[in-house]
Amino acid sequence: MSRVYNFSAGPAVLPEEVLRQAADSMLDYNGCGMSVMEMSHRSPVFQGIIDEAEADLRELMGIPDDYAVLFLQGGDSLLFSSVFMNLAQNGKADYVVSGNWSKKAFAEAEILGDAKLLATSADKNFSYVPDVSDLPIRDDASFVYICQNETITGTRYPELPDTKGHILVADQSSMFLSEPVDVARYGLIHAGVQKNVGPAGVQVVIVRRDLIAGDLADVPTMLRFKTHADAGSLYDTPNCWGIYVCGLVFKWLKNLGGLKAMAERNRAKAAVLYDFLDASELFSSTVAPRDRSLMNVPFVTGDVELDRKFVAEAAAAGLVNLKGHRLVGGMRASIYNAMPPEGVSALADFMARFEKENR
Ligand SMILES: *Cc1c(COP(=O)(O)O)cnc(C)c1O
Repeated sequence: MSRVYNFSAGPAVLPEEVLRQAADSMLDYNGCGMSVMEMSHRSPVFQGIIDEAEADLRELMGIPDDYAVLFLQGGDSLLFSSVFMNLAQNGKADYVVSGNWSKKAFAEAEILGDAKLLATSADKNFSYVPDVSDLPIRDDASFVYICQNETITGTRYPELPDTKGHILVADQSSMFLSEPVDVARYGLIHAGVQKNVGPAGVQVVIVRRDLIAGDLADVPTMLRFKTHADAGSLYDTPNCWGIYVCGLVFKWLKNLGGLKAMAERNRAKAAVLYDFLDASELFSSTVAPRDRSLMNVPFVTGDVELDRKFVAEAAAAGLVNLKGHRLVGGMRASIYNAMPPEGVSALADFMARFEKENR
């Protein structure tokens, strides 16, 4: 067996320790004689798994009691629709478009109702986060929507928007559990776990309970947050295995010291790359310094052929999945929680060597 340093944007690297635990339980979870994949979601054993996962997540993020935690399916992209259907009671919501994921969320809202574009950084290929200090929010907007970390272009909000008393909704998929957040500042947080937390197929929604509408006659049952909140995410069969692995990752995070410790580790990891990029004469970062993501680091040489050569040679050296997203080109290193600091140093060392050989 040989593991590579995997810089994929998602599905992405998971902690080796968690993969080993999951593997060890594959034939026999905790003396049950079966794997978590094979047991009823109505069994006391699985109830214990999902309860513990929720409790650990609440502890990690300091989620207040007046927020519900849901483990959903359908892809995080489905939340672009269901968030609007559940929270925009008057059919109106306002959006900041800072990258491709918020752009997609805005597009869904436009299908479903009256969505207003408050600000965008489309003019510079989403290489920065728009000024959100004084947004022209409509008085009757149901919420203000952001994607707090744009996975493709590698931006992260340095500060949350001033929502002027309106509810803030944030897609945190590619930064979920990478740093502490003050949950009380949000009405709803959603995240697909395949970026930073677990296997694809689970989305976590953290929503203030008073925002879970009870009378949504026009919304399909499965798309109502109330359905899942009332049933403890067990209205129908959930992604049992995915939730189990997320639970293992929550424990791994707790053992490493929680989100404050992760944030320090993530800041240090990102600094290794950004410091290198800022000093390099070959490579450069594509993102405005104050808005740089700690998780997704796009960079370019400025020469498409050289970019291609870099990606190929890096892969041969065990540094894989560094090709940039087709919308940006160049390279992108996703350095999620589970990417060890050694992986980031190995990448920076490789870049330095490549620069020497190709100047
Ligand atoms: C990947 C991603 C999504 C979409 O997730 P799917 O589960 O593939 O639908 C949404 N938002 C962000 C920020 C993402 O990175």
